[in-house]
Formats: sequence, C-alpha cells, structure tokens
Amino acid sequence: MIRSDAHAATPLAARLALPLAALAFALGCSTGTQDDIQDAASSPARTETPSGTDTPTGTDTPATMKDSETSAADDTPAADQRTVRVRVFDADGELVGPLEVPAVEKTRAEWLAELGPERFKILRAEGTERPFCGTLLDNKLEGVYTCGGCGLPLFSSASKFDSGTGWPSFFQPVAAENITEHQDFKLRVPRTEIECTRCGGHLGHVFPDGPAPTGLRYCLNSEALEFTEATDLARLADPAAAQ
Ligand SMILES: [Zn+2]
Repeated sequence: MIRSDAHAATPLAARLALPLAALAFALGCSTGTQDDIQDAASSPARTETPSGTDTPTGTDTPATMKDSETSAADDTPAADQRTVRVRVFDADGELVGPLEVPAVEKTRAEWLAELGPERFKILRAEGTERPFCGTLLDNKLEGVYTCGGCGLPLFSSASKFDSGTGWPSFFQPVAAENITEHQDFKLRVPRTEIECTRCGGHLGHVFPDGPAPTGLRYCLNSEALEFTEATDLARLADPAAAQ
C-alpha cells in the first residue's frame, strides 16, 4: 500500500494509513443511506470522516452550505452572471488561458438532479468519501482529472502520488487559477479547503506535507472528479477556448 519511491507516503500519512484502512473496512464504502441523502438535500449535511485530517475523530461535523445554495436561493437562478479567470483545454487538447469565462451557478435542486445524491453530498455539501473507497484512488492511467460538477480541468496524472491516506492525492493542480482555497475551521486544527474556481464545488483539502517539488498534498474525493485519458483531451475542449 505504501510505496518506497520518491512519491512515498509521508511519515504522517503512513501513520494514518492503517487506522484509516481499518476504519474503511469497518464502515464499508457506502457513503450514506437514503435518510442521509435527504439530509443532504434539505439541511446542512454531515461529514462522516475528515478529509486527510491530522486528527481523524470519526465524529459527525456540521458542514456549511454554499453561499449560493441557501434556502432563500433555492430554485431561484442567479440574476447576474459572475465570471472567473481559469485555464481550459482547446480543440487540440492544449491547456490555454487564463480566460474569462462564466461561473457555473445552479440552484440546489438543479445540482442534486444533475449530480445525484452521492456526488451532491461531496461537491455541494462538503462531504467526504470514506478512505480507500474512491474509484480513482488507484487509477494509474495518464490523463487529466476534471471537476465532477462543471468539467474544469483540475489535476494531471503527472502530479498524482500515493499518499497512503486512502484518498487520491496530487502535489499540484494543472493551473493555480482553477483551484480556489478557503480556510476551514470545522476541526480543531484549521485546514485549507479547495474548491473548483468555476462552480465552487468542494473538492477536498490541501496540506503542507506533500512530496517535492511543491511540498503540498492536495487530498481529493474521487466523487468530486472525472477522469479523461491523455489521448482524449480534445474531448475536454471548452467553448471559451474557441473564441
Ligand atoms: Zn467545477
């Protein structure tokens, strides 16, 4: 599970690996019951395990709803169109920009219908999938990981490494513009949450214990990501890149 090459797990991650694996085994990989899904759809969601945290407690932690998804905003599309500056793929499969593109903003009901309950809990209610359960954890293929909410390119397989934590881990994003960071004070130790810049979808957290060259560990939820193989990058062509 823990490799001994240059991308080997950090001592901290190594210490967490076995307890988290045992936790995953004990809890199973289901991310919630129908009741949990209803919770996610109608009230602030609960997170079952902290994402890559230094002090996993296994206790339920209230999650903050996205500003644009308060009950008052439910089913009411945003009137003004906000824009963001991000890098996107063109028709040749090349990353271009940064370009000014419309932010992706939807109501809670629209997100739930589009994402389904499991992805909604991660991307729109700041949930965390259980360690060693994500479908992309062991993906070794070359390609790009995009946002599960809006398709924005986020991470490359070239920066993926085995952290031993049970969550897909990267040492840098494909473009700094495409990731937005926020301080997260839900646990005793402050963490840095990472979101998709274009849709505001919750992706995971970033920690200062990653490998060279950045020393950073971007700890992701598989459910927040889509994967496209390197030979298919033209499929990710963004309309903004053609203008
Ligand atoms: Zn997104």
